[in-house]
Amino acid sequence: MSDDYVKVQLEQMKSLGEDGEKKGVDTEEQVPLSSPSSVPPSITIAGRDATNTPITCKQRGKKKDDKNSCGKHISDLSLQGSGDSPHAGKNLNRRGHERTLHIRGTGKILQGKSEANGNYVNIHPSKNTQDSLARKRRPVTVDIVKAKTSLEALKISIKQLKWKEFPLGRRAPCDIYWHGVSFHDNENIVSGQVNKFPGMIEMLRKINLSRAMRTMQELFPDEYDFYPRSWILPEEYQQFSTQIRMVKEKDATVNPTFIVKPDGGSQGDGIYLIRDPSELRVMAGPQAKQAVVQEYIHKPLLIDKLKFDIRLYVLIKSLEPLEIYIAKEGLTRFCTEPYQEPSQKNLTHVFMHLTNYSLNVHSGNFVHSDSQNTGSKRTLSSVLYRLAAKGVDIKRVWSDIIALVIKTVIAVVPELKVYYQADIPPGKPGPTCFQILGFDILMMKNLKPVLLEVNSNPSMRIEHEQEISPGVFEYVPSPVDEEVKVGVIRDTLRLMDPGLKKPSLSQPRAGGFEHGDEIPMEAETQVRSPDEGTLPSLCLKQVYPKYTKQFNFLRLVERTAALFIRFLGVKGNMRLGPTAFRTFIRTCKLSNSNFTMASVDILYIDITRRWSGAVADSREAGMGLQAFVEAFFFLAGRRFKSLVLREQVVSLLELCEAQLESQSSVEDRRSVSCSRALPRTAKTQTHGLTANPQLNSPAPLRRAASQDYRLHQRLKPRTLRANVEN
Ligand code: ADP
Repeated sequence: MSDDYVKVQLEQMKSLGEDGEKKGVDTEEQVPLSSPSSVPPSITIAGRDATNTPITCKQRGKKKDDKNSCGKHISDLSLQGSGDSPHAGKNLNRRGHERTLHIRGTGKILQGKSEANGNYVNIHPSKNTQDSLARKRRPVTVDIVKAKTSLEALKISIKQLKWKEFPLGRRAPCDIYWHGVSFHDNENIVSGQVNKFPGMIEMLRKINLSRAMRTMQELFPDEYDFYPRSWILPEEYQQFSTQIRMVKEKDATVNPTFIVKPDGGSQGDGIYLIRDPSELRVMAGPQAKQAVVQEYIHKPLLIDKLKFDIRLYVLIKSLEPLEIYIAKEGLTRFCTEPYQEPSQKNLTHVFMHLTNYSLNVHSGNFVHSDSQNTGSKRTLSSVLYRLAAKGVDIKRVWSDIIALVIKTVIAVVPELKVYYQADIPPGKPGPTCFQILGFDILMMKNLKPVLLEVNSNPSMRIEHEQEISPGVFEYVPSPVDEEVKVGVIRDTLRLMDPGLKKPSLSQPRAGGFEHGDEIPMEAETQVRSPDEGTLPSLCLKQVYPKYTKQFNFLRLVERTAALFIRFLGVKGNMRLGPTAFRTFIRTCKLSNSNFTMASVDILYIDITRRWSGAVADSREAGMGLQAFVEAFFFLAGRRFKSLVLREQVVSLLELCEAQLESQSSVEDRRSVSCSRALPRTAKTQTHGLTANPQLNSPAPLRRAASQDYRLHQRLKPRTLRANVEN
């Protein structure tokens, strides 16, 4: 967040705050810092007593069914309102009339959105120039057949960009395919770009995300302390109950609370709170459901005495090189019953403890507001403004959120790369991918952000369902959702514009990804195409590779995954067979008289067997990435006993990578003398190794990562955090 951005946001919010103030509201707010003299307004929740609804799957299901019976379904919807908020800076006011786009009767809303998205660029070509530039360029084509609930926001975005939508598909390939659910929504795409990565849904399921975060917590406990302690059920039930019993025995006054979340659940479905392992539901037998049980954050930051969470939109523009963008504007979702720390009495109060819109919308206290800074769903900037007005250092909060996002993406990228090479193996024609993710973040009372979950398919719906008369529902525009979501989709499209794309940066390249000298340090205005004069500047901010230096040292599992992928051998595979594992050990010279090939086989069998039981949907036999990572950590620990785990892993990675590098140069010399024409990929394959240059860990990346790691060891975490610009 730049200073300018913060300034603009604050100015906007000041006027929004004034807007709220007129409505006359309660000013008490739980923020742990001193209050400034002018306290921003808070909201009044009208009406009835909160319902003490038990948190059960059944009840939610029933409510959903009720709605479905009217031919509608509930999703992440929002409040109503005009969205014609006051203007931000002078420039914005001056240009206000130019920016108003009357699309589907939403002119006012779009005007508001432009304001929230920040400054406008100074380039405003005349209408004639714009028209002639637009004429010269073939419009970008977007296949929207499978867009599902994103359709409305997508259509508005395409129209704003003057691109061409194909609602019924197109015989010729499109530039961009917009899928509503998964990469596989349409199986026949061989070119262009798809807005989903293969494997993202699987990777972000609660259990898989927890596993990936745990691996990172083992390596970097301080860096990954933003993810609550979690256990995977039923497999870790014993560990969970033993650990909790020990904690309670040690200090009888400690009575922690835990939240149980079914794997693959969403919208709060099936979630419940417990205070003792004995309260877990069905932990054994055929009905035992996989779930994550997690430490409950019992001291969240409150506004107007209510718990809330943040929905932040994050774009992964490319996996290799890793490019991450964060939307400067997001949503906040509020509970509808005043918060109290968990007690046996209130554990079942769903409207007090869960911030899901889909649950709270059924509370009598849910507030549909016309304003962005009141009501049960608000913009993130309006909440940040209120915090800033209370004296909170929101630049610091925002830095911490950026760090959380980058670290989380770094945790999931290794496995995503395995999925990617399986679905789009090197040499096979296929599209490139990008994806918008929804990060759910809770602020603790001490202002530390905590990651709750990442949604692979965040709702991009811009209407919400309203009961216009008993039992009759209608979709009405939701200004707050439109404000945020159209900006995110439109600017994602702008970043993915094939006319602006530099293939050498986002595509696999034969020589491997050169880190450092080829990092695309795109300024946000550089992605502007000539016919974008009237569009606001991007609401998406690049955070990676921008902050490579601060975070690159964390990419150790990714380097381990690069080894794994290299030895997978057969294109499209996701698991390593015993022979390939042996080849890995031999090639990297990891066996010796103390660790024979027989021990290698035992290690393989032991770890693979355990993981095949742990991973429910393990269709393929063999060693998956997570099992390989465990084996790799074991080998690192054996070889470098005196070091701490992360240093053990770094040392083993350097050893393996050096072996592979020397092997490759021997190969290079041999093949140069045999045939100058033989391409590098073919040469590598003669060794039975996959040669996806996009996915292997090339020498410069490794060197940069190792150097970053050493540098990081000398820096204090606080310094690093401060280095993340806003
Ligand atoms: P779902 O995908 O079903 O929405 P979440 O993980 O987002 O599941 O959890 C639902 C809600 O429960 C969150 O929006 C948040 O309000 C609350 N919640 C989840 N995890 C925690 C936690 N560890 N501590 C406190 N509250 C939590």
